[in-house]
Amino acid sequence: MAYQYDLFVIGAGSGGVRASRVAASKAYKVAVAEGSALGGTCVNIGCVPKKLFVYGSEYGHGFSEAAGFGWKHEGVSFDWSVLRDNKTKEIERLNVIYGNLLGNAGVEVISGYAKFVDAHTVEVAGQTYTAERILIAVGAKPFIPEFTGSDLVVSSNEMFYLDSLPEKALVVGGGYIAVEFAGILNGLGVDTSLAYRGDQLLRGFDEDVRAFASEEYVKSGIDVRLNTDVASIELADKADPAGKRIVHFKDGSSEEFGLILYATGRVPNVASLALDKAGVETGKNGAVIVDSNFVSSAPSVFALGDVTDRIQLTPVAIKEAMALIDFWFEGKAVDFDYDNIPTAVFSQPSIGTVGLTEQEADARGLDFRVYQTDFRAMKHTLSGAQTRSLMKLLVNNADDKVIGAHMVGDYAGEIIQGLGIAIKAGATKADFDATVGVHPTSAEEFVTFSAGALKKR
Ligand code: NDP
Repeated sequence: MAYQYDLFVIGAGSGGVRASRVAASKAYKVAVAEGSALGGTCVNIGCVPKKLFVYGSEYGHGFSEAAGFGWKHEGVSFDWSVLRDNKTKEIERLNVIYGNLLGNAGVEVISGYAKFVDAHTVEVAGQTYTAERILIAVGAKPFIPEFTGSDLVVSSNEMFYLDSLPEKALVVGGGYIAVEFAGILNGLGVDTSLAYRGDQLLRGFDEDVRAFASEEYVKSGIDVRLNTDVASIELADKADPAGKRIVHFKDGSSEEFGLILYATGRVPNVASLALDKAGVETGKNGAVIVDSNFVSSAPSVFALGDVTDRIQLTPVAIKEAMALIDFWFEGKAVDFDYDNIPTAVFSQPSIGTVGLTEQEADARGLDFRVYQTDFRAMKHTLSGAQTRSLMKLLVNNADDKVIGAHMVGDYAGEIIQGLGIAIKAGATKADFDATVGVHPTSAEEFVTFSAGALKKR
């Protein structure tokens, strides 16, 4: 049967854009449907504007730290609308670039949300389109639990367009988004509390990293409240829906906040896709179930990125798209390696991590050693900031290979990228030792670990 398109992509986010433009450049006839701005979550309401906000908020500490270097900073003030609107201008510039990238590659961009009619047909704004292959790349959306007053909170989506900043904010959650936005708000001068339901923030990260980062967040001025859960929320003044909210905590206490951000996870964005019409099966949280080649239960329908709820990271979705292209065009079965994916949390201080945590290595029954250090970075000897950095390296005793690297401190995300290459390439501790350090940097600690830094386990 002749279809209108070789490939119809639903969602012009990181994975969808990459798959559609590379497929089009290889002479596929491709369309992509997007109901919102081009670039998806990462470009519009995720990684990119978040990082711009992080840069903006770091100045909040920077002015006071500069005093130790001789700078006077009287009369400093911050205008939220300037940061917000400059960020928006930059994002709009990127939206145009994404449009050009797609257009230049010959991809037809269809404006609107797509839903399935059958496994080869979608409908967008009342019009149907047929395709030999359909790729679901719709990403995920914030999950907010339902409780009395849950309509009075915001998700990360709204944080990028707030009319004004509150004097006092509560962030709920203990994952990436919670700690990143707590840092942003705190740096921008908002009295910030971070409430997490469990014993320690950042579940899944190395335990030493979790404890260390949490202490650093407290030092930076965030009021971290562990084992804290919200029972309900109400307006302080029923006649003022935009006004303060009263949070009733499960321990019986209550407190007023100007803003409550729920960063309690993200779930696949599948509700409006009518997946059942195409026979596409879903699993936990609505994640599209795919095999190792990204094929769903309908052979003509594929899915990748956050909608599959594997690892919710932009570079993973992009690499998955490239693997899928090889599968389609070269017939290569996908062999996507989800091990040793480096990742950074842009909290303040930031976290960089790649490979196994100490707990994961223990759970695998490995015989390994741990090098660990924490120190006050040189900059802060003059800045006066009490913040410290943590570095940790895990080495497998059987073959001397480095199996994990973790850092909390300035530039952790930048530093961990290089270590990611080393670990991916199978570098040993001897290779690290043979590498000359870059002096004076924090990063050089990773190549100068000696027996004195061995952690007693
Ligand atoms: P995460 O899954 O990282 O964290 C969710 C947090 O919310 C956890 O602390 C979880 O607690 C808590 N939580 C879940 N349900 C509830 C509830 N009902 N009540 C109270 N707390 C709850 O999700 P995020 O939203 O922070 O981020 C989503 C994903 O996006 C990340 O996992 C990451 O993959 C990606 N991301 C990556 C970034 C980066 O690369 N820098 C930045 C931002 C996002 P518990 O631990 O107890 O389950």
